[in-house]
Amino acid sequence: EFSEIPLCPPDVVFGVLDSFNQDPDPNKVNLSIGAYRTDEGDPWVLPIVKATELALAQDVLQDHEYLPISGLTAFLDSSARLVLGASSTIILENRYAAVQTIGGTGAIRIGLGFLKKFSKSNVFYLPTPTWPNHNKILTELGAEIRSYRYYDVDKNCLDEKGMIEDLRAAPEGSTVILHGVAHNPTGMDPTKDQWKQICDVIKERSLTTFVDFAYQGFASGDLDKDAWAVRYFIEQGLNLFIAQSYSKNFGLYNERVGCLTVTCSSPKLASCVKSQLAVLCRTIWSNPSNHGARIVATVLNNPAMFAEWKENLRVMSDRLSQMRQALYDRLRVLGTPGNWDHLLAQIGMFSYTGLKPNQVEIMTKKFHIYLMKSGRISLAGLNSKNLDYVAKGIHEVITT
Ligand code: PMP
Repeated sequence: EFSEIPLCPPDVVFGVLDSFNQDPDPNKVNLSIGAYRTDEGDPWVLPIVKATELALAQDVLQDHEYLPISGLTAFLDSSARLVLGASSTIILENRYAAVQTIGGTGAIRIGLGFLKKFSKSNVFYLPTPTWPNHNKILTELGAEIRSYRYYDVDKNCLDEKGMIEDLRAAPEGSTVILHGVAHNPTGMDPTKDQWKQICDVIKERSLTTFVDFAYQGFASGDLDKDAWAVRYFIEQGLNLFIAQSYSKNFGLYNERVGCLTVTCSSPKLASCVKSQLAVLCRTIWSNPSNHGARIVATVLNNPAMFAEWKENLRVMSDRLSQMRQALYDRLRVLGTPGNWDHLLAQIGMFSYTGLKPNQVEIMTKKFHIYLMKSGRISLAGLNSKNLDYVAKGIHEVITT
């Protein structure tokens, strides 16, 4: 009966990682992975996370009972405060529905599943390019997927005109997915002015706004700065679906900690929305996992721990921006043809280098430097030992 099932090609991101792992070359460099690495190239357990884990392990009140379907209350409350700001009227008026999810991916899956079920429109807009899982989730849900122009690959900048034009042409009630900060894969975010224009079109066309928010604090090192666009949209009276991930900013990749927050026009509606979100969670994973969410809730609800977490965040975001600057400087010193200013205009973990697929292939085959076919590199993979080697690799593929 199942003999006709075709082989599904490997996931693009994890496929590159497999090839990297199999490469025996001693100089190989992995610039594909979306996870933080130290200057020694190692994963980093945030000191505040380690300390919290040790304390939780000693806590006799901890058990392994099921959490509520919608998750830990202390986690949900502090997640909403983190993204909306503690003094947000949404919070003061209790106008939000939040559920704890299995990573940011779970938040996206639950939020989009809710919209698929309850929105009058089946049309969902994704930026070109975007995180590939957006497309996959919407495909699984049977949504009508459309794209809006986002990045101009020839000019290495935001395609402001194209984006606004495409959103303006969206049918009323469609959902538009935005990356709240540190757009993946390009690293190119709208400016404040551009966010304002985007907000205007969303209002004009009565679109539903879904914010994928996977990099708060990780992008600039400043939690509030990274939440600027989200808070601006809220101030403008928009209600949002916000999918938060704690994978990057807490380094809790495999603990799968995320939160979906939906802001609503009234507390009554918020309760109804929450009850429906809980139905979706119940049928997919039933109850969320405890360990990571407990760590996050503990840290976010304790001022001293919160301050230490911010220090840890700075360590990561500072190293990433140093690597960004260092790569740029080296390309300038080498005199690599082209304008590399876009490297500095982009933020966060990723950079869209502008390397073309054939150049990426040479980088990998000849230099054993692994990056995405799109030319996206993860700055976390750069360090003081491999920077020169990577810069020379880029220089060679551009000049030969
Ligand atoms: N959205 C974007 C844009 C991401 O880059 C990621 C992580 N790669 C996610 C969502 C999902 O994060 P998580 O690992 O928490 O599911």
